[in-house]
Amino acid sequence: MNVDLTAIQRNVRLFALPISLITVGLIGMLICAGHDDQTTPLAAMMTTVLQVAFWAALTLAAIGASWLARNTWLLWRWESGELVGSCTTCGGVMQHRNGRWSQYSRCNMCGSTRQGWH
Ligand SMILES: [Zn+2]
Repeated sequence: MNVDLTAIQRNVRLFALPISLITVGLIGMLICAGHDDQTTPLAAMMTTVLQVAFWAALTLAAIGASWLARNTWLLWRWESGELVGSCTTCGGVMQHRNGRWSQYSRCNMCGSTRQGWH
């Protein structure tokens, strides 16, 4: 069996955060949906709060979905050879970071690092 660890790392790097956002958003939507209790002033206020929270969770899920789509599109372009970034190893898109010693860039596709922002 051949396990491509670099591809697994790449998928985690590209998709873990967007999928987490979508999951948190969907769970928030499930928790906040369907509350409509106007019997007491407190219940009416809670209904308003939950409605606002529902829309916030929906926005979070939408942002996650757009981010996921963008990263999928980036990966597809890189895999089909259309995307040429500044990574000297694979031509992937570099991510700018601040390290302990200096600024560096990390490739989103292969994970290699270079000193400075490229
Ligand atoms: Zn690379």
